[in-house]
Amino acid sequence: MQLKRLEAYGFKSFADKITIEFDHGITAIVGPNGSGKSNITDAVRWVLGEQNIRNLRGTRSEDIIFAGSAQRRPLNIAEVSLIFDNDGTLPVDFREVAVTRRLYRSGESEYFINRSRCRLKDIYQLFADTGIGHDGMSIIGQNRMEDILNSRPEDRRVFFEETAGITKFRDRKRETVKKLTDTEANLLRVQDIMQEIETQLEPLARHAEKTRQYNALHQEYQKCKLTKFARSARREADRKAANEEKLQKVRDEALGFETAVKRAAAEREAMQKEILELEQRMKTGAEANESLRQKLEAANREIAALEERQGQSGAEKARIEARRAELQEALVQSVREIGRLSGEAAEKKRKLTEADAHAAG
Ligand code: ATP
Repeated sequence: MQLKRLEAYGFKSFADKITIEFDHGITAIVGPNGSGKSNITDAVRWVLGEQNIRNLRGTRSEDIIFAGSAQRRPLNIAEVSLIFDNDGTLPVDFREVAVTRRLYRSGESEYFINRSRCRLKDIYQLFADTGIGHDGMSIIGQNRMEDILNSRPEDRRVFFEETAGITKFRDRKRETVKKLTDTEANLLRVQDIMQEIETQLEPLARHAEKTRQYNALHQEYQKCKLTKFARSARREADRKAANEEKLQKVRDEALGFETAVKRAAAEREAMQKEILELEQRMKTGAEANESLRQKLEAANREIAALEERQGQSGAEKARIEARRAELQEALVQSVREIGRLSGEAAEKKRKLTEADAHAAG
């Protein structure tokens, strides 16, 4: 497996995105003091999951985010990716594996494997047993080499063992020995318990016999209870059937009553309608009667008036007849007078003619 590339943005002194390609063989990074060479190894250690900020030469987690300079404002995010050419060392089905860690100034941090979000635990698992974990000896920081060279032989041996990957096996051995010791202790405890149990076996056997008897009796008792229950259930079922029959009868009767009540109600309604009609007709008859009575009264009054007028017209007739007689008499007189007068006129006329003739002569 080979580390192919490192990409960093906002990490410590790298305000701009940097990409470092690692070719086959040895790569040496050179530069003046303070130019950021150690920041690159810090970046590698950080991506691999370093949690102790002191190991990255900082005091607070945000110390690894670009803090700004005279020319540039601080950034709010730091992101570093390591891209590996995976020859099967890493337990994933990808030829190229990109591991990314991101930190926001708010303190929130994120991990990705091939751009898929994951947990820190997944990163640890990915590099477990590869010798390049954050706690492995594959990354040796500044001054560390001097410490190693000046250290005691036994400490140096630890360093070599860690570098050679032996520590991991020693740790596993320690764990296994501990498990073995625990298992032996457990075994002893089990033996103690077994001894204790053996002393209790006789009373337990007595108890077991009693329990067996109890179970047999209890079974018998349960059987009796079941039989009793079955009988009473049968009785209840018969009673229920009889009650249901009675109930059906009562229901039928109720239905008959209901029909009769409905019929009676219909008849009552029809009769009420008839009564109403009769009352209406009586009312109309009474009104007609009243009208006839009033007409009769009016006719009676008219007859009375006619009778009175008849009486009056008898007297009038006599008066008129008398008047007519008078008038006839007057007429006769008048005719006579007219006759007399026309005689008189004729006489006068004759006399006038005579006078005229006498005058002419
Ligand atoms: P030397 O050769 O002396 O060991 P170096 O090349 O290894 O130096 P580093 O120690 O990697 O240099 O880098 C230190 C530089 O990184 C310093 O100039 C420091 O100001 C800068 N630096 C560290 N943290 C940050 C940060 N959070 N923001 C900006 N710059 C930072």
